[in-house]
Amino acid sequence: MVIEIDSRSGFCFGVVNAISQAESELAKNRTLYCLGDIVHNSEEVRRLSERGLVTISHEDLKRLKGKKVLLRAHGEPPETYEEAVRQGITIIDASCPVVLRLQKKIKEGWERMQAVGGQIVIYGKRGHAEVIGLVGQIGGNTIVIESLGEIEKIDFTKPIEIFAQTTMNADDYQIIIDAIQNRLKQNSDGKSPHLKSHKSICNQVSNRKTEIIKFAARHSLILFVSGKNSSNGRMLFEACQSVNPHSHFISSTAEIDPAWFNGVESVGICGATSTPRWLMEEVADNIKDMAL
Ligand code: SF4
Repeated sequence: MVIEIDSRSGFCFGVVNAISQAESELAKNRTLYCLGDIVHNSEEVRRLSERGLVTISHEDLKRLKGKKVLLRAHGEPPETYEEAVRQGITIIDASCPVVLRLQKKIKEGWERMQAVGGQIVIYGKRGHAEVIGLVGQIGGNTIVIESLGEIEKIDFTKPIEIFAQTTMNADDYQIIIDAIQNRLKQNSDGKSPHLKSHKSICNQVSNRKTEIIKFAARHSLILFVSGKNSSNGRMLFEACQSVNPHSHFISSTAEIDPAWFNGVESVGICGATSTPRWLMEEVADNIKDMAL
């Protein structure tokens, strides 16, 4: 049985940067606080917690006066920075530069929309840390939509600027943009309100979809390794399933079922932008041990 780990799967540069900042701090200090899980992968969170990384919530900031707190790649709303100043907390900002750029663009978009009585729409997962950070840039003055069905929340008589959370599916985003455009045409009296759509899905995510589809199609069985709460993981797993019905989503080696491998010639192991390489290697070793 051939086993191949997808060389393009695994941490994106935003996550690599956050983890390396955490590791270099932990080399100097025994404890470092991280606001939320550093990555949507419980195995990696456990590995780093054994080295002294403590995951905290926003509520915990109030009792961490004078401590160091790492902000993960997802980015944060302005209130987090304000609270850190109030508590004398030193921020180690590992917000991904791609997310920071998007936050800035949303602020600029809101200034333009305020001038013309328009709206900012964000296509993303409500309650996701990145979306909370994006919404926070403009004081909540935005409409978050999670699916095509939710475009009814938009006022089609007013101008619109739309952005997507960096890890959303690019095809679904385009369908939503097209649907909004159609509604604007239908609802106007010849003068369509303006729609400006921003290409804000991260290249690290959109390129991976095309690549992972090719990878999944060349193997008889796919083990997709990811944390269950990774939206990028869900999206890439669906991409694998679309070309390979023998695709299984696992978060750890404990979830591997030996029965999956009966008569299988090749196994492809791949994962999300939040999946550590060492975990995919552990999965490969586990399958090799079963085959012995
Ligand atoms: S997926 Fe892209 S935007 Fe998100 S953390 Fe990774 S590099 Fe940054």
